[in-house]
Amino acid sequence: MTQRYETVIGLETHVELATKTKIFCACSTAFGGKPNSHTCPVCTGMPGSLPVLNREVLNAAIAVGLATNCKITRDSRFDRKNYFYPDNPQNYQISQLYAPICTDGHVTITTEAGPKTIRIHEIHMEEDAGKLIHDEWTNTSLVDYNRSGVPLLEIVSEPDMRSAEEVIAYLEKLRMLISYLGASDCKLQEGSMRADINISVRPVGSTTFGTRTEMKNLNSFKAIAHCIAGETERQIELLEMGRSVTQETRRWDENKESSRAMRSKEDAKDYRYFPDPDLPPVHVTEAQLEKAAAGLPEFREEKTERFRKTYGLPEKDIAILTEVRQTADFFEEAGRLSGEPKKTANYLIVELRQLQKERGLDADRIPFSAEHLASLVRMSTDGRISSGAAKQIFAAMFEADVDPESYAETNGLLIVRDDSALDSAVKNAIAANPKAVEDYRSGKKKALGALVGAVMKETRGQADPAEVNKRIIRTLEG
Ligand code: ADP
Ligand code: ZN
Ligand code: MG
Repeated sequence: MTQRYETVIGLETHVELATKTKIFCACSTAFGGKPNSHTCPVCTGMPGSLPVLNREVLNAAIAVGLATNCKITRDSRFDRKNYFYPDNPQNYQISQLYAPICTDGHVTITTEAGPKTIRIHEIHMEEDAGKLIHDEWTNTSLVDYNRSGVPLLEIVSEPDMRSAEEVIAYLEKLRMLISYLGASDCKLQEGSMRADINISVRPVGSTTFGTRTEMKNLNSFKAIAHCIAGETERQIELLEMGRSVTQETRRWDENKESSRAMRSKEDAKDYRYFPDPDLPPVHVTEAQLEKAAAGLPEFREEKTERFRKTYGLPEKDIAILTEVRQTADFFEEAGRLSGEPKKTANYLIVELRQLQKERGLDADRIPFSAEHLASLVRMSTDGRISSGAAKQIFAAMFEADVDPESYAETNGLLIVRDDSALDSAVKNAIAANPKAVEDYRSGKKKALGALVGAVMKETRGQADPAEVNKRIIRTLEG
């Protein structure tokens, strides 16, 4: 049944910008903080207060627009979207409707069928709302305006996606571009990226779109995939029964894996949008545009290409290193300092990923310095620590960014280089284990283990086992 229909999807993606202060006032955007401690007359909607646009918000919007191939509007404006809700103290949200900062862009995603272009209708700047906390025990609602006025970009796609895979690839692409820009970390789980998903179905071959519903409250790729599958099925069933889809906003419940209607879809006209008289139009100069274009970073594709050429790393290693920009930059810095980029990469790909996963940390959380990792790599390459010791030191660095050099010293992890001490330990081991020596000489090569063990014990584990092995054999056979 499903094959007779096609799913059509368009996204409205909200990205919370990582500026230090809010969009129209100087309050902090820091997460947490006592309720209503990051507030002022502007972001609590006090009479007579006046908004002033944060320059960093405009810079971020232009950068994201350029990264997504948009036209940058030279004279954009802010509009008021009027509605009452207690988390919205002004009774309107300052947003952009008539002249958004970016229009007509696109990004390219990779799909199984090859590359595909997803068009972006527009990107606009707006402010976030506050947060309501409902306490069912005391039957009260509390409001925290710390988030009120936190800057958002809303990225509106054209209805160009046809499957959950494409939607996820599109969001991944946005996340990559925007996080590489440093404009936001774009984490669905933490709410710094939020996607409203518009879904409709139509018979395969049809050239007109069906009626859409808008799905809210999706905070993981898994929820998005479930929601698209569930909503596609629900709409097809309605059509098959000869009924029609109602245009409405629905809320997805990931626990129940089902959605329910929230409200009928409102139109722009319902909000009585009008130009905000408190804010002047935003003029973007040629110089500003040139500066923004020159400031764009090397994005993942170019980085991948360069890593391939410069370091000769395998494709899958590069994919891990470039997944977030912090890791890629960290790798290059530590690789340069150690002079051993491949070994440095290995620590980041294997050991770091493993510990991050065990602790449930995101890939951008690297809890030690590039200098320390470089020094660990050098110690290991120079044969001053065993591979076991290297692992132990790495774990300690991950916990507390210890200096590998002094940590190895205090914990007796440096390989003993004193040849005479090693030679005497070998002699002692041979003298103390005549049985093992005899066994070895009569061909039981395994007997060597006991002798190596004895040497390691005398050197308190500080000798290099491979070196000990060599020396014992040389002494026994020499
Ligand atoms: P509105 O202004 O009413 O919110 P828009 O035209 O701005 O509507 O579209 C909002 C979002 O819905 C866009 O991301 C767009 O791609 C998507 N969309 C529009 N029509 C459809 C449709 N028939 N099916 C799926 N998505 C759609
Ligand atoms: Zn404020
Ligand atoms: Mg819209």
